[in-house]
Amino acid sequence: MARYTGAVCRLCRREGEKLFLKGTRCSTEKCGITKRTYAPGQHGQNRIKLSNYGIQLREKQKVKRIYGVLERQFRKYFEVAAKTKGVTGKVLLQLLERRLDNVIFRMGLGISRSQARQIVRHNQVFVNNHRVNIPSFLVEKDDLVQWKSKDKAKNKIMENLEISKERTVPSWLQFNAGELSAKVLRLPEKEDIQQPIHEQLIVELYSK
Ligand code: SF4
Repeated sequence: MARYTGAVCRLCRREGEKLFLKGTRCSTEKCGITKRTYAPGQHGQNRIKLSNYGIQLREKQKVKRIYGVLERQFRKYFEVAAKTKGVTGKVLLQLLERRLDNVIFRMGLGISRSQARQIVRHNQVFVNNHRVNIPSFLVEKDDLVQWKSKDKAKNKIMENLEISKERTVPSWLQFNAGELSAKVLRLPEKEDIQQPIHEQLIVELYSK
């Protein structure tokens, strides 16, 4: 599965806000956007007023970057959301939140979504007692997600949990720290996402 491998702080600087893509570093003064508050590139310091289209495009790019999803897959999520009963923007966010790598991140087992994705890829995650190594796997209500692996890898997971303890696990997941597992109590809602996202702008963009 293709993914962005460039410098992630550039992505935050492009969107003009913290997207929290680097885990611990994001809350320190080493944060790239704290040091350089302007957009990357030769013309990054020239502020331009965005058109409506530009605002919609930036919102879409921001959400893709938060969840580490490339355009093709993001577009597929939108198509599924548009065909699903309910408010398209909300269903879109729900699909992104239900990704297995996001669930591992929300549980605090990974300090960033990209690290959570690696944890899934490294065969350390089970859903309903079946090993699942696909980061885009979508969890369902009543699923049980659990981390299981060798003792050596467990040290790293415990370290991540300690680092992530200030992030609260959203209420749609019932986290069991002893078992390193989480039960999906319900599907996520927009209110469960702490970062400000204007999903309607994305719907408007794709509906043109
Ligand atoms: Fe974004 Fe984190 Fe880099 Fe800051 S440190 S610019 S929040 S990825």
